[in-house]
Amino acid sequence: MTLVNRVSAFFLAALAIVLVVYSGVFYVFVRGRLVQQFDQELHGALYSLVAAIEVEPEEVKWQPLEHAIALGSGAGPEEVRWVVVGDGGQIVEQSRNVSSEIIAEAKRIAADASARNQTEGELAAPGEWSVLFQRLVAPAPEREARELDEFDELVVVAARSTADMDANLQRLAALVIVLPLAAWLLAAALGRWLGARALAPVLAMSKRARSIAGSDFKSRLPAPASNDELADLGESFNTLLDRQQRAYEQQRRFAGDAAHELRTPLTVLLGQIDVSLRRPRSAEEYAGTLGVLRDEANELQQIVESLLFLSRTSEEATLPGSEPIVLAEWLPRYMERWKDDPRRQEMRFELQLDSGATISAPPALLNRVIDNLISNAAKYSAAGTSLSIVVTVDGSEAAINVTDQGRGISSEDQAAVFDPFFRSKSARDAGIAGTGLGLAIAARIAAALQGRLECASELGRGSTFTLRIPLAMNS
Ligand code: ADP
Repeated sequence: MTLVNRVSAFFLAALAIVLVVYSGVFYVFVRGRLVQQFDQELHGALYSLVAAIEVEPEEVKWQPLEHAIALGSGAGPEEVRWVVVGDGGQIVEQSRNVSSEIIAEAKRIAADASARNQTEGELAAPGEWSVLFQRLVAPAPEREARELDEFDELVVVAARSTADMDANLQRLAALVIVLPLAAWLLAAALGRWLGARALAPVLAMSKRARSIAGSDFKSRLPAPASNDELADLGESFNTLLDRQQRAYEQQRRFAGDAAHELRTPLTVLLGQIDVSLRRPRSAEEYAGTLGVLRDEANELQQIVESLLFLSRTSEEATLPGSEPIVLAEWLPRYMERWKDDPRRQEMRFELQLDSGATISAPPALLNRVIDNLISNAAKYSAAGTSLSIVVTVDGSEAAINVTDQGRGISSEDQAAVFDPFFRSKSARDAGIAGTGLGLAIAARIAAALQGRLECASELGRGSTFTLRIPLAMNS
C-alpha cells in the first residue's frame, strides 16, 4: 500500500466516521423536533375541541365555540379533521373533510365498552394518519329532560395526515445521506490528488535514485524548490552524494598515485635484476646489487605499510594503548631518539609548560608524528640551519611545534601537504627523496588522537608544523 493510499485511507475513514456520526445526530435531532411539533399541533387541536365541551355532574354538553368550528373547515392536506361522537355512536358534529375510516374508528372507540375507562389515547390510524381521541363522561348521568346538545359522554377525535411530515422526513434522510456522501467523495478525490501531488517529488527522487548507476557520482536528485521537508531531504541526499563523489575521487586518485609510487621502486628492482642477469658477476658485484635491491625493497615495504595505515578508516586507526603522557617527562626520553642524528647539534628541544601538563595517547604514535615532522624539517632545510622543537600549552591543548629555516612551502602548496602522495614541485626539483605519505599519515594519527596538525610556512624562510592534542582532564 503506497503512502498516499495509507494516508488517504486513514483520513477518509476518520472523515467517514465524523460524517456518519454528525449526520445521524442531525437526523435524529431534526426528526425529533418535527414529530414533537406535529404532536403538539394535533394535541392543541384536540384540546381546543375539548374546550367546547362543558362537563356537568349529570351530563356533558357540546357547546362549540367559534374557533373549534372553524378548525378543520379547510381542505388542505395538513388540515386537522375531527369528529365528536355522542351516546350510542351518534355523530354530534364533524369537520368538513373527515374520512369515513376515521368516523368508523371514532364510533368504534365511543361504542367500545371495554375502553370506557380510557379517557384519552391514540387510535389505530388508517393509512398515513395520526388520530387522537379524548372521552368526556358525566359523573352521574341524569337522562331525564335532556337537551339536544346534552349527553352521557362525548368522544372527541382529532386526526391529521402525516404524509407531509413523512415526506419532509424522507427529504431530510436523503439530504443527510447524499450531502455527506458527496462531501466524502469530493474529499477522497481531492485528497488523492493533493497527496499524489505533494509526494510527486519523492517519486521523482526515488526514480532518479534508482536510475543512478553505481559508478555515477555526478548525477543528483531533483530536489523540489519548495522550501519544505522534501526539499530538505533532497538537498541532504545531494550533499551526501557530493561527499561520496569527493571521497570516491580521492580514493581513485589515491589508488592511481599509489600504483605510480609502487611502480618506481619496482622498475628499479627489475632493472637491477635484468642488468645483473645479463652476464655472470663476481660475488662483490652480486652483493652490491643485492644491497641496492634491499634498499628498494625497503622503500617498497615502507610505502605498502603506509598505504595500509592510510587505507584504514579513522576509527580503525585509533589504536588502543592510550596512556597518560606527562610532556615534561616525555621530552627528555624522546630526545634520546635523535642523539646519533648528524643534525643533533642544530636541534633545540624546549619545554614551555607546567611540569604537570599531560596528554593521553599511545606513546608510539606520538613519537611517530614528531619523528616525521623533525625528519621533514631536517630534510627540507640546509645543514647548519637550526631546528627547534618547542613543547608548550595553548589553552586546553598541548602544542608541539617543529620549526625549521628551510625552503618553506608556498601558500598554494600548504593546503595540499597533508594529502597522500603530495610532494611540492620545489622538493621534487631539488631531488629530495620522499613518498609524500609522511604528513598524510601524521595528520591521520593527529585526528585519531583527537587533535590536529597545522602548517605555517613562508617560501624561502622556513616552516613550523604544529601538533595540537587536547590536554588530559586532570593536567
Ligand atoms: P615526503 O617528505 O616523503 O615527500 P611528506 O608527506 O612528509 O612526504 O611531505 C609532503 C610534502 O610537503 C613534501 O614533499 C614537501 O614538499 C612538503 N614539506 C613537508 N615538510 C616540509 C618542510 N618542513 N619544509 C618544506 N616542505 C615540506
